Amino acid sequence: MSKENTVAHFDQAKHVIVVGAGIGGLTVALGLAKQGFHVRIFEQTSALSEVGAGLQLSPNAMKVLREFGIKDRLESHAFTPQKACIRDYHSGRYYLEAPLGKHIEQRYGAPYWHIHRADLHKELVQACYSAGVEIELDHKVLGYREDHKNATVLLENSTEHADIVIGADGIHSKMRELMLGVQAPIFTGQVAWRGTVPAAAIKGTMMEPNATVWAGPNKHLVTYYLRGGEWVNFIAVEERAEWRSESWREAGDVEELRSKFVGWHPEVTSVLEACDETFLWALNGRPTLPKWHDERLVLLGDACHPMLPFMAQGAAMAIEDAFVLVTTLTKYPFKDAFEKYESVRKPRATAVQRQSRDNAALYHMHGGWEGRLKLKALGVASKYFSRIIESKLDNIYGHDVTTLAL
Ligand SMILES: Cc1cc2nc3c(=O)[nH]c(=O)nc-3n(C[C@H](O)[C@H](O)[C@H](O)COP(=O)(O)OP(=O)(O)OC[C@H]3O[C@@H](n4cnc5c(N)ncnc54)[C@H](O)[C@@H]3O)c2cc1C
Repeated sequence: MSKENTVAHFDQAKHVIVVGAGIGGLTVALGLAKQGFHVRIFEQTSALSEVGAGLQLSPNAMKVLREFGIKDRLESHAFTPQKACIRDYHSGRYYLEAPLGKHIEQRYGAPYWHIHRADLHKELVQACYSAGVEIELDHKVLGYREDHKNATVLLENSTEHADIVIGADGIHSKMRELMLGVQAPIFTGQVAWRGTVPAAAIKGTMMEPNATVWAGPNKHLVTYYLRGGEWVNFIAVEERAEWRSESWREAGDVEELRSKFVGWHPEVTSVLEACDETFLWALNGRPTLPKWHDERLVLLGDACHPMLPFMAQGAAMAIEDAFVLVTTLTKYPFKDAFEKYESVRKPRATAVQRQSRDNAALYHMHGGWEGRLKLKALGVASKYFSRIIESKLDNIYGHDVTTLAL
């Protein structure tokens, strides 16, 4: 994205506060700072870090990271998977195989990479500092107000002003609550166990260099390599009637995790055998929000469209949001920018949220033998009608926010 000569509109934002230094908040802050905005991030935690887990970054997200100068910094941390597969939890039979690797890079003009979240986070933080973004840690935003002159966030020990505020504060967003009222997220009836394991610690068959969904009755497990193949990431999703803990994330019991996947394919059980630490997430959702912005406050990423991780697109959507918001704020007075941003992003994010939900039923073989049949049919269809699968992927991976006429 080249630096544009912005017309100095009355109502053009210059000073921006971003709430939350997650992937969405850092990406939007970086993009804005590169365009000459003065950006401060307020982050509630006392250290800049990310959870020890992997992230699949598809070409639609990679194009934005390339525009913002992050792609080259990530290359040495990445792993390029050769295929995306859906396999049977027990027999290991392939229901579906779709090429990734070179094929996807040629088709979409950007790679599909697996990245450790901490690596992406670290590179974004460094790029933000280099671009002049100020990051204030231990700054939890508690309140917000706005008037015709500015936007104000209330912190424990201070009150801070800016032209606009971007709420990138995740699924439990305070900024969303301040704009739209208290509404607890809805537990989707699914929990995710996550962990990373050194590849060298895994005994038995070497895992294939693919992103694999192991589909089973009422559960699935995803495996893929990270950091040039030195680490393996897993996400194990299990259906549960309720989530009792106060927290939405807690340390998990490795023995309990293993017990849930007894009898699964050896490529799965050997990864779990090598695991010595896991965390458990409640997978929550929210209905589509009536609006994403007020006069001077706008939401981004999980704060406005949390999604189930079954398309691996939550962070990618936050990254796409960031590009569109940076572009519109660079071109227009912020009121018009917010409207354009919401009108462009909401239909896209809502569609991906829906597709992510639909995948749960497919991966968990809902309907018993019918569920298995659906997976088999999908496999046959993908062999003989590869266009159908490709067109589904085109909608997700082929979407290029960096070339949108905004
Ligand atoms: C199991 C699982 C696997 C996933 N896999 C993928 C994948 O492969 N690919 C993909 O694209 N996505 C994936 N996702 C989704 C992705 O993790 C999220 O969509 C993404 O991290 C959202 O980023 P965010 O910046 O919007 O929010 P967050 O990452 O939640 O960041 C919010 C930040 O705001 C801070 N904050 C919160 N409240 C306040 C406050 N009041 N004041 C100050 N700071 C505050 C938080 O501390 C945090 O740092 C996965 C999600 C899960 C659960």
